[in-house]
Amino acid sequence: MLHEILPVGMLACNCSVFGDQQSGEALVIDPGDNIPEILEVVARHGLRVRAIVITHAHIDHIGGAQELKAATGAPVYMHADDLGLSERLDMQALWLGMETPERVEIDVPAGEGERLRIGAADFEIRHTPGHTPGSISLWIPAEKKLIAGDTLFMDSIGRTDLPGGDGRQILRSIRDKLFPLPDETLVIPGHGPTTTLGREKEFNYFLQRL
Ligand SMILES: [Zn+2]
Ligand SMILES: [Zn+2]
Repeated sequence: MLHEILPVGMLACNCSVFGDQQSGEALVIDPGDNIPEILEVVARHGLRVRAIVITHAHIDHIGGAQELKAATGAPVYMHADDLGLSERLDMQALWLGMETPERVEIDVPAGEGERLRIGAADFEIRHTPGHTPGSISLWIPAEKKLIAGDTLFMDSIGRTDLPGGDGRQILRSIRDKLFPLPDETLVIPGHGPTTTLGREKEFNYFLQRL
Protein backbone atom coordinates (compact mmCIF):
# COMPACT_ATOMS: atom_id res chain seq x y z
CA MET A 1 0.00 0.00 0.00
CA LEU A 2 1.26 3.40 -0.98
CA HIS A 3 1.62 5.81 1.93
CA GLU A 4 2.81 9.41 1.79
CA ILE A 5 3.03 11.67 4.82
CA LEU A 6 2.76 15.39 4.11
CA PRO A 7 3.32 17.97 6.85
CA VAL A 8 0.63 20.57 6.09
CA GLY A 9 -0.20 24.04 7.37
CA MET A 10 1.55 26.32 9.80
CA LEU A 11 1.50 23.73 12.61
CA ALA A 12 2.89 21.04 10.22
CA CYS A 13 0.12 18.51 10.79
CA ASN A 14 1.05 15.10 9.37
CA CYS A 15 -1.51 14.41 6.64
CA SER A 16 -1.44 10.79 5.46
CA VAL A 17 -2.38 9.72 1.95
CA PHE A 18 -2.87 5.96 1.61
CA GLY A 19 -3.39 4.48 -1.83
CA ASP A 20 -4.16 1.02 -3.15
CA GLN A 21 -2.79 0.79 -6.65
CA GLN A 22 -4.90 -2.23 -7.60
CA SER A 23 -8.28 -0.63 -6.90
CA GLY A 24 -7.06 2.95 -7.41
CA GLU A 25 -8.63 3.96 -4.10
CA ALA A 26 -7.14 6.47 -1.72
CA LEU A 27 -7.79 7.42 1.88
CA VAL A 28 -6.74 10.85 3.15
CA ILE A 29 -6.31 11.41 6.87
CA ASP A 30 -6.16 14.90 8.43
CA PRO A 31 -6.13 17.25 5.41
CA GLY A 32 -5.49 20.29 7.59
CA ASP A 33 -4.23 22.54 4.79
CA ASN A 34 -2.26 22.53 1.50
CA ILE A 35 -5.08 20.80 -0.40
CA PRO A 36 -3.53 21.42 -3.88
CA GLU A 37 -0.43 19.53 -2.72
CA ILE A 38 -2.55 16.62 -1.43
CA LEU A 39 -4.50 16.51 -4.70
CA GLU A 40 -1.23 16.50 -6.61
CA VAL A 41 -0.07 13.38 -4.72
CA VAL A 42 -3.41 11.68 -5.39
CA ALA A 43 -3.28 12.56 -9.10
CA ARG A 44 0.38 11.57 -9.49
CA HIS A 45 -0.51 8.02 -8.41
CA GLY A 46 -3.71 7.91 -10.45
CA LEU A 47 -5.88 7.50 -7.37
CA ARG A 48 -9.45 8.43 -6.48
CA VAL A 49 -10.16 9.61 -2.92
CA ARG A 50 -12.74 7.28 -1.40
CA ALA A 51 -12.80 8.68 2.11
CA ILE A 52 -11.50 11.55 4.22
CA VAL A 53 -10.86 10.78 7.88
CA ILE A 54 -10.38 13.40 10.60
CA THR A 55 -8.59 12.17 13.76
CA HIS A 56 -10.01 15.12 15.73
CA ALA A 57 -11.59 18.49 15.07
CA HIS A 58 -8.64 20.79 15.71
CA ILE A 59 -8.23 23.27 12.90
CA ASP A 60 -4.76 22.04 11.93
CA HIS A 61 -6.29 18.60 11.16
CA ILE A 62 -9.72 19.50 9.78
CA GLY A 63 -9.05 22.95 8.22
CA GLY A 64 -8.83 21.76 4.58
CA ALA A 65 -11.47 19.02 4.80
CA GLN A 66 -14.21 20.97 3.03
CA GLU A 67 -11.89 22.01 0.21
CA LEU A 68 -10.78 18.39 -0.29
CA LYS A 69 -14.37 17.12 -0.07
CA ALA A 70 -15.51 19.65 -2.68
CA ALA A 71 -12.66 18.65 -5.00
CA THR A 72 -13.15 14.87 -4.67
CA GLY A 73 -16.74 14.25 -3.56
CA ALA A 74 -15.42 11.88 -0.88
CA PRO A 75 -17.34 11.51 2.40
CA VAL A 76 -15.84 12.82 5.65
CA TYR A 77 -15.50 10.53 8.68
CA MET A 78 -15.08 11.86 12.22
CA HIS A 79 -16.07 10.81 15.73
CA ALA A 80 -19.35 12.40 16.85
CA ASP A 81 -17.87 13.55 20.17
CA ASP A 82 -15.84 16.19 18.30
CA LEU A 83 -18.82 17.73 16.50
CA GLY A 84 -18.95 20.58 19.04
CA LEU A 85 -15.33 21.47 18.31
CA SER A 86 -15.83 21.26 14.56
CA GLU A 87 -18.62 23.84 14.86
CA ARG A 88 -16.19 26.30 16.45
CA LEU A 89 -13.52 26.61 13.79
CA ASP A 90 -13.97 30.40 13.99
CA MET A 91 -12.80 30.40 17.61
CA GLN A 92 -9.91 28.05 16.85
CA ALA A 93 -8.86 30.28 13.94
CA LEU A 94 -8.91 33.28 16.23
CA TRP A 95 -6.54 31.59 18.72
CA LEU A 96 -4.07 30.92 15.93
CA GLY A 97 -4.55 34.24 14.17
CA MET A 98 -5.59 32.64 10.90
CA GLU A 99 -8.57 32.90 8.57
CA THR A 100 -11.56 30.70 9.38
CA PRO A 101 -11.71 27.82 6.89
CA GLU A 102 -14.95 26.66 5.35
CA ARG A 103 -17.14 24.56 7.62
CA VAL A 104 -17.33 20.87 6.70
CA GLU A 105 -20.34 18.61 7.08
CA ILE A 106 -19.43 15.26 8.69
CA ASP A 107 -20.95 12.48 6.56
CA VAL A 108 -20.16 9.42 8.65
CA PRO A 109 -19.68 9.26 12.43
CA ALA A 110 -16.51 7.24 13.03
CA GLY A 111 -17.14 5.14 16.12
CA GLU A 112 -15.06 2.66 18.11
CA GLY A 113 -14.48 -0.61 16.25
CA GLU A 114 -15.68 0.57 12.87
CA ARG A 115 -13.61 -0.30 9.83
CA LEU A 116 -12.81 1.31 6.53
CA ARG A 117 -11.40 -0.88 3.80
CA ILE A 118 -9.07 0.42 1.09
CA GLY A 119 -7.93 -2.32 -1.27
CA ALA A 120 -7.00 -5.27 0.95
CA ALA A 121 -6.24 -3.18 4.04
CA ASP A 122 -8.57 -2.53 6.94
CA PHE A 123 -8.39 0.74 8.84
CA GLU A 124 -9.81 0.11 12.33
CA ILE A 125 -11.09 3.01 14.33
CA ARG A 126 -10.14 3.21 17.99
CA HIS A 127 -11.75 5.91 20.09
CA THR A 128 -8.89 7.48 22.07
CA PRO A 129 -10.36 10.50 23.90
CA GLY A 130 -8.27 12.81 26.06
CA HIS A 131 -6.66 15.32 23.71
CA THR A 132 -10.22 16.01 22.56
CA PRO A 133 -13.44 14.08 23.42
CA GLY A 134 -13.73 12.64 19.91
CA SER A 135 -10.08 11.87 19.16
CA ILE A 136 -9.60 8.65 17.21
CA SER A 137 -6.59 6.58 16.20
CA LEU A 138 -6.51 4.30 13.17
CA TRP A 139 -4.93 0.85 13.36
CA ILE A 140 -3.98 -0.76 10.07
CA PRO A 141 -3.14 -4.42 10.87
CA ALA A 142 -1.98 -5.33 7.34
CA GLU A 143 0.61 -2.54 7.47
CA LYS A 144 1.36 -2.69 11.22
CA LYS A 145 0.83 1.07 11.29
CA LEU A 146 -1.01 3.33 13.71
CA ILE A 147 -2.24 6.80 12.85
CA ALA A 148 -2.22 8.37 16.30
CA GLY A 149 -3.56 11.88 15.69
CA ASP A 150 -2.53 14.13 18.58
CA THR A 151 -2.88 11.32 21.15
CA LEU A 152 0.69 9.96 21.07
CA PHE A 153 3.93 11.54 19.82
CA MET A 154 7.57 10.54 19.86
CA ASP A 155 8.62 11.27 23.48
CA SER A 156 5.36 13.03 24.28
CA ILE A 157 1.57 12.86 24.41
CA GLY A 158 -1.14 15.25 23.28
CA ARG A 159 -1.81 18.38 25.29
CA THR A 160 -4.95 18.25 27.42
CA ASP A 161 -5.24 21.89 28.49
CA LEU A 162 -7.47 22.92 25.57
CA PRO A 163 -11.31 22.81 25.82
CA GLY A 164 -12.48 19.19 26.04
CA GLY A 165 -9.05 17.91 27.04
CA ASP A 166 -8.64 15.39 29.88
CA GLY A 167 -5.20 14.39 31.21
CA ARG A 168 -6.29 11.14 32.86
CA GLN A 169 -8.41 10.08 29.94
CA ILE A 170 -5.60 10.39 27.39
CA LEU A 171 -3.42 8.07 29.50
CA ARG A 172 -6.27 5.56 29.83
CA SER A 173 -6.80 5.71 26.06
CA ILE A 174 -3.13 5.02 25.37
CA ARG A 175 -2.99 2.18 27.91
CA ASP A 176 -6.25 0.48 26.91
CA LYS A 177 -6.47 1.12 23.16
CA LEU A 178 -2.88 1.49 21.93
CA PHE A 179 -0.65 -0.54 24.25
CA PRO A 180 -2.27 -3.88 23.25
CA LEU A 181 -0.96 -3.38 19.67
CA PRO A 182 2.35 -5.03 18.67
CA ASP A 183 5.55 -3.29 19.85
CA GLU A 184 6.85 -3.06 16.28
CA THR A 185 3.80 -0.99 15.22
CA LEU A 186 4.95 2.10 13.33
CA VAL A 187 3.29 5.12 14.94
CA ILE A 188 2.50 8.10 12.71
CA PRO A 189 1.71 10.96 15.10
CA GLY A 190 -0.24 14.09 14.24
CA HIS A 191 2.99 16.11 14.30
CA GLY A 192 6.70 15.35 14.18
CA PRO A 193 8.65 12.17 13.43
CA THR A 194 7.32 8.63 13.28
CA THR A 195 8.21 6.19 16.04
CA THR A 196 7.31 2.69 17.20
CA LEU A 197 4.96 1.68 19.98
CA GLY A 198 7.72 -0.36 21.64
CA ARG A 199 10.06 2.63 21.69
CA GLU A 200 7.42 4.85 23.30
CA LYS A 201 6.53 2.19 25.89
CA GLU A 202 10.18 2.04 26.86
CA PHE A 203 11.33 5.67 26.66
CA ASN A 204 8.32 8.02 26.63
CA TYR A 205 8.44 9.74 30.02
CA PHE A 206 4.67 10.28 30.13
CA LEU A 207 3.94 6.57 29.79
CA GLN A 208 6.32 5.17 32.38
CA ARG A 209 3.68 4.56 35.05
CA LEU A 210 1.01 3.02 32.82
ZN1 LIG B 1 -4.98 18.61 18.21
ZN1 LIG C 1 -2.49 18.88 15.83
